[in-house]
Amino acid sequence: MTARTHRPADLATIAVHAGSEARESDSPVVHPLFQSVNFLQEIGTADGLRYPRFGNSPNAELVQRRLAALEGSEAAVLLSSGMGATACALLALLRPGDHVIASAWIYGGAAALLTKEFTSLGIEVSLVDPLETRIWRKEMRKETRAIFLESPVNPTCRVLDLQPVSYITKECGIALVVDSTFASPINLRPLEHGADVVIHSATKYLNGHHDVLGGVVCGTSPYIEEVRQKMMLWGQAPDPFGAWLLERGLKTLDVRIKRHNENAMAVAEWCAEQQEEIGRVHYPGLTSHPDHEIAKAMMDGFGGMMAIELAGGARAAERFLRKLKIIRHAPSLGGVDSLVSEPRFTSHAHLSASDRADAGIPDGFLRLSIGIESAQDLIRDLEQALH
Ligand SMILES: *Cc1c(COP(=O)(O)O)cnc(C)c1O
Repeated sequence: MTARTHRPADLATIAVHAGSEARESDSPVVHPLFQSVNFLQEIGTADGLRYPRFGNSPNAELVQRRLAALEGSEAAVLLSSGMGATACALLALLRPGDHVIASAWIYGGAAALLTKEFTSLGIEVSLVDPLETRIWRKEMRKETRAIFLESPVNPTCRVLDLQPVSYITKECGIALVVDSTFASPINLRPLEHGADVVIHSATKYLNGHHDVLGGVVCGTSPYIEEVRQKMMLWGQAPDPFGAWLLERGLKTLDVRIKRHNENAMAVAEWCAEQQEEIGRVHYPGLTSHPDHEIAKAMMDGFGGMMAIELAGGARAAERFLRKLKIIRHAPSLGGVDSLVSEPRFTSHAHLSASDRADAGIPDGFLRLSIGIESAQDLIRDLEQALH
């Protein structure tokens, strides 16, 4: 899989240390939390004005340096949510009259942001089927300023190849913006595959403990400065405590993701091999997955997200969910606890059953966010709930 030879340290080390400054003896090993909105200012100058809404609280600055190191970007900015990151990342690229092409397979909030909010700002939006060949080129206009996509994709776990899209964005001199929340930088670093901007909901794997809401945008320094300006004026900055918790979460990112990868692989293989109650299993690590080869070439791990389709449909799904003991029914993903959700009641609730089936999400479809528990215990839990 992808080489990482250009890095000064391995990602496991970067996740623990990057961005820390040399400190004097007797200072705490853990970075202190500066839970303050005001900082003493030098008299007679506007330089160095510090205010958390500007994205320069000491805890936010540390996390931003670490996230840039993990993604291999020049700079990063931390925001108050993944939606805040998506909104400010795109607002920094698009003006009234501009056009953006977005994959139709994106987070529901991002799709609503584009089709409801951005269109009302005079920004033109095309939502396209990302699997249609040559679709990006077909939709390109002289006003097009960016392509926005998500890879891997929620909830079908399809993996979109970034390289062919990046040839087009480079040729046209526009930005390729990738939400790779599902992968985390341990499994996929989109900048290595031609993307210009990377977005994460830090609420998911980056923090990983179900207790922080946050978002990240990574890119070049001048671009990140533009995003920061949007964040300041639209009020999307994080609180210092959220940044402090996120820094703590990041330290275990590498070990957590490796465990998520291993566990999801074990669970997916078990589901695929033995269970007649399960019609289909969606996991990019399985050779039966339509994007297995792309995922193998582009990613360092196949991730902790998978989905199953119960042969018995909606009623079987409800029975199954009521029987699960370890894996709990909750929306969201990417944390240490295993969670299961039904897209027909969450991300795809706005579609009819037949539109959902056309989108590859029939009733009986369950999305699993595999946590870091014992894989054997997770499999036993699935087994007792199935039979
Ligand atoms: C959750 C999620 C978001 C939105 O993030 P929030 O932190 O909830 O605002 C965006 N993109 C993807 C892929 C997500 O899973």
